[in-house]
Amino acid sequence: PYAGPTAAEILAKRKEFLSPSMFYLYKKPVNIVHGKKQYLFDENGRRYLDAFGGIATVCCGHCHPDVVKAIVNQTETLQHSTILYLNHAIADFAEALASKLPGDLKVVFFTNSGTEANELAMMMARLYTGCHDIISLRNAYHGNAAGTMGATAQSNWKFNVVQSGVHHAMNPDPYRGLFGSDGEEYAKDVQDLIQFGTSGHVAAFISEAIQGVGGIVELASGYLPAVYNSIRKAGGLCIADEVQSGFARTGSHFWGFETQGVVPDIVTMAKGIGNGIPLGAVVTTPKIAEVLTRRSYFNTFGGNPVCTAAGLAVLRVIERENLQDNAHVVGSYLKERLNDLKEKHEIIGDVRGRGLMLGVELVTDRQLKTPAKVEILQVMDQMKDMGVLVGKGGFYGNVFRITPPLCFSREDADFLVDAMDYAISKL
Ligand code: PMP
Repeated sequence: PYAGPTAAEILAKRKEFLSPSMFYLYKKPVNIVHGKKQYLFDENGRRYLDAFGGIATVCCGHCHPDVVKAIVNQTETLQHSTILYLNHAIADFAEALASKLPGDLKVVFFTNSGTEANELAMMMARLYTGCHDIISLRNAYHGNAAGTMGATAQSNWKFNVVQSGVHHAMNPDPYRGLFGSDGEEYAKDVQDLIQFGTSGHVAAFISEAIQGVGGIVELASGYLPAVYNSIRKAGGLCIADEVQSGFARTGSHFWGFETQGVVPDIVTMAKGIGNGIPLGAVVTTPKIAEVLTRRSYFNTFGGNPVCTAAGLAVLRVIERENLQDNAHVVGSYLKERLNDLKEKHEIIGDVRGRGLMLGVELVTDRQLKTPAKVEILQVMDQMKDMGVLVGKGGFYGNVFRITPPLCFSREDADFLVDAMDYAISKL
């Protein structure tokens, strides 16, 4: 039994000693003391189905024994930075990771976070091309350091940063966008930006395949092939931010970009790849990687043996437990059930996403697509009281984000949808 401080005591300490900008998902935040598989437990031993943890960190389930064992073993053997000596853990994971990527994408740089990975990717693209202009998508989230905050394109997440050469293209959003699901129409805006907003030469285009923070927006089909074509003609590199959509989450594919049939020049990843351990990576081609030899470059903790041992264990678990297949099968079933729920409840404006990266957008008027900002909070709170934790996102904060650990089962999917059904009917 848990004998630590109560939720109220922790909250009081957080208010006094931690960042005033921290936010909470619930009016009454939950005190989580333990996690196992797709479940979280509060201080009273109450179990919650975690349908959001996949985004934050956990792809193969909370405290997966294989990952824990790999971390503990490595911690007991050696915990050191990677920059001074040889150690096999970093090389083993780099090799395994590279084997998951197509084409010539086989040189890996490790970082501690997604922000760091995208900062590095953008810098490499600028060095490689000798250009400064980068195009990212409106509604994107790429990080919160100087450069990546420029690429992030939602006022919610931007402070007063210098944009420094970043242009934001029209978002190929099939639900709210001007051109519906016609990816090629949206792609013309990137061509326009190149022609009218730059010298005609650009460093890079960066995007997620499915926007996570932006509210599970899957880019309109046909978009990436057309944009990659324009960018390459302008001498630029194509960066795929797989921080949320990568690592088997979409089910149909291991990487989100594969759903559009493209091969990027640089791929970035983080979050789930360490199953809770801080770990990010940039993977690119030997030719592009070469730019970093022009100066000295290192990252003290990026790719240290403990993190990379965890990363390797995660890859093995995904393979051994067929988690990509599971994401596909359970995710498709869950999406079907959510679509049925849309038929039943007028407030559900859209159900979207793939595999175990699904979004449910709530609107008070289907025609006007008016964001149901207040209602979503009520439904979320009620679902929490029934033992189901879901996330929330989108610019208006009116989209449920369902991104559970990849071991989520059909029964979990049923429980989640039944709870959502009940909570919406109580509005
Ligand atoms: N890219 C995407 C797509 C993300 O969702 C996030 C985090 N929400 C980041 C980059 C930044 O990752 P981190 O918080 O690890 O810096």
